[in-house]
Amino acid sequence: MPKKNILIAGLGLIGGSLARAIKSGHPDYHVSAYNRSQAPRDFAIQERLVDEVSDNFADLAVKADVIILNFPVQLSIKFLDFLSELSLKKNVLISDSGSTKFEIVTAAEEIFKGKAVRFIGGHPMAGSHKTGVIASSELLFENAYYILTPSRLSKAADFDELKNLLARTRAKFVELSAEEHDAMTAVTSHFPHVVAASLVDNTHDFAAIMPFTENLAAGGFRDMTRIAESSPDMWSEILMSNSEHIVHQIDRFNEKLNAVKRLISQKQSAEIWAFFDKARQLRSQMP
Ligand code: NAD
Repeated sequence: MPKKNILIAGLGLIGGSLARAIKSGHPDYHVSAYNRSQAPRDFAIQERLVDEVSDNFADLAVKADVIILNFPVQLSIKFLDFLSELSLKKNVLISDSGSTKFEIVTAAEEIFKGKAVRFIGGHPMAGSHKTGVIASSELLFENAYYILTPSRLSKAADFDELKNLLARTRAKFVELSAEEHDAMTAVTSHFPHVVAASLVDNTHDFAAIMPFTENLAAGGFRDMTRIAESSPDMWSEILMSNSEHIVHQIDRFNEKLNAVKRLISQKQSAEIWAFFDKARQLRSQMP
């Protein structure tokens, strides 16, 4: 029986980490990787992350039983288009690792309608401010949530197959609809990145008037703004891809800030105390 053939497309931080976990969990599978530039391909072969590398995506794709796309979301959608023009193996299982899910799941359903292709959206919810295969790790996703989103092109058994393939990531797999995924990550991840970047920008603006300000940005400010150092490429893409949910969160947050502003202006000390007390209790009870 031929070896199961897995294609990791995009050997960056996420693609490299998935390749490591798949090869380590399934040494008997043939794992190949597509990457545009040569250095990550050389690295992956030297480190034995994969068995084969190429800059020819089509050559690897037509041989694959499973293909995982690890690009920015819009680029992954272009690769789906490209895949639809190839003679892929019957019932090939395609997934991705992008940070938003509705756009790509909808695109896959449209692109592969009526074809013998299975698609499950994926989002391993761990990462790093580092990029590239050199920063990849087999344990990057250990104990992290790994969201799998169904599509009209997937059945329950397909989830078991994908979870088995990715078992060595030691992630906690959760199934959510693409819509649920994007709504929740807007609240817990995408919108907080907007706030962190805005806090840094606001402080920088103020420092133009009082230059010593930035020296006083201590622990609390640093905790709240660490994520402002994330990749602008990745985050502008995410905001474009999940704009509706993020705009909704900005509107809700404006209302919350205005409510606190009213309490402060009116010097309602008891209500302000209750506001902080509620937040403290909720924060301490968070999972
Ligand atoms: P990365 O920058 O480390 O890797 C990106 C990959 O895309 C590289 O292999 C690069 O060669 C390839 N690529 C970029 N433009 C290309 C082009 N025009 N043609 C061909 N290849 C191209 O990024 P990453 O962190 O691995 O992110 C990959 C995906 O995973 C993104 O969708 C990202 O949103 C998602 N993600 C990232 C994190 C994180 O924290 N880094 C976490 C979860 C999910």
